[in-house]
Amino acid sequence: MRIMMILISRWLALGVVLLGGFSHQVEAAPPAESYSEARQAMVARQLQRRDITDPRVLIAMGRVPRHRFVPEALASQAYGDHPLPIGEGQTISQPYIVALMTQWAEVAPGDRVLEVGTGSGYQAAVLAELTGQVFTIELLPELARQAAARLKELGYGRVQVRSGDGYQGWPEAAPFDAIVVTAAAPRVPPALTTQLKEGGRLVIPLGTPYGAQTLVRFRKVKGHLAEEASLPVRFVPLVRPETLKGSGQ
Ligand code: SAH
Repeated sequence: MRIMMILISRWLALGVVLLGGFSHQVEAAPPAESYSEARQAMVARQLQRRDITDPRVLIAMGRVPRHRFVPEALASQAYGDHPLPIGEGQTISQPYIVALMTQWAEVAPGDRVLEVGTGSGYQAAVLAELTGQVFTIELLPELARQAAARLKELGYGRVQVRSGDGYQGWPEAAPFDAIVVTAAAPRVPPALTTQLKEGGRLVIPLGTPYGAQTLVRFRKVKGHLAEEASLPVRFVPLVRPETLKGSGQ
């Protein structure tokens, strides 16, 4: 009986593939409502059941269509409790980590926020739900271009995307109330400390590439960074552009 069922479902699947050759509608992605349900479940199970308590962060995470920020083939996994590849060897963080970094950044309406490591643009969109002033830098020009187009298409056109080296920050847009770095560095890039306002928050994974790393939340107090919270994590490295050129890419 079970074998029969498997065979039948195989044939049905094949039928869909064959029909798909004639009509693209047959291959349609799951309806938008099912993504919206998956997103609300993600907020309840992965965020509220852990320590995401800021109502504005929970609302933001419940609004941003994460499935539009991952490659189409992975859209059905977008609301899973894990990171996903986004191309060019980069990853979009697990929803919980995005929410935690956002909560630690304590973004109030009107705050100026810098994100280093645009990637897909997802974290930038979440930040843009909280303030109209989001600046984001991405080292890889192709990712920056795609993220800017995607953000615009999804109604986050106010986010300013730049292709460049995040180690230098964004001096023309500084000072910032909060800086969120989504790639791991061995230590805090000095330009970022300089570009942070007094009382501002800096959230950054620190540690060795692909090794032990700690997500740290700092606050700038009397010109210095005071560590306030930390969590073991794993991020892709914050790359020095010199090393990229050296590798011939
Ligand atoms: N925040 C992203 C995920 C970031 S992955 C999202 O929500 O999808 C880390 C990103 O940092 C990658 O896209 C990588 O290309 C970028 N990156 C690495 N080194 C960088 C640097 N020096 N300056 C700016 N971006 C950098």
